[in-house]
Amino acid sequence: MSIISFIFGASLASFIASYSYRLATNQPLMFPRSYCDNCRLILCWWQLIPILSFVILRGQCFYCKQKINFYLPLVELLSGTAFAILIIYEPLHDSIIIIFLTCLIFLASTDFFAQVIYSYYLIGLFPVAFLSVPQDYLYNFISACILAISLLLFAALTKTLGNGDIEFLFIICLIWGWKQTLLIIQISSIIMLVCFLTTHKAKLPFIPALAFTTFLSIFIQGC
Ligand SMILES: [Zn+2]
Repeated sequence: MSIISFIFGASLASFIASYSYRLATNQPLMFPRSYCDNCRLILCWWQLIPILSFVILRGQCFYCKQKINFYLPLVELLSGTAFAILIIYEPLHDSIIIIFLTCLIFLASTDFFAQVIYSYYLIGLFPVAFLSVPQDYLYNFISACILAISLLLFAALTKTLGNGDIEFLFIICLIWGWKQTLLIIQISSIIMLVCFLTTHKAKLPFIPALAFTTFLSIFIQGC
């Protein structure tokens, strides 16, 4: 059963990442079918198999040999693994997990591809609170407001955080409280430091790192 969940999770991530890319870069959502961004040739079915196609093609386009972004197989692998572990064939539980992971992958992907955040998708993260350790939500709300104000001041001074990053952390703090949120910020910052040291890019999207660490948090929270 876990293999079916893995395939479903990897396929869903592949679809969401492609949809996010087209939406964030103002391309038609449905047509043409999946194609190479470099040579514009339509990909055939076996070039669309999540993870496997990347391995078979050795990470490059079949036609023009343009390198395929490593983000796609990585997200497919993480999503497949998450579904294999978290899906327990209980309708309410699994629906919440699917909504949570779908929104997480969507938010990370639009930020990764185009530095765009569709904030209304943050609503999809809320239902996971039903599966998490019960919280004092008034306390979490006050903590989230203090955190958001602190981050807004930090962003104004350093120009290193976007509004989407702060909105994301506000929601996470509402769901899981300030301790979990600070841990997510710390681990995500280390990931960003490693990315900066390896890529030397001055501007890097923060939501993918936050989403990855949040994804790990759902295991800690016992979902
Ligand atoms: Zn190509």
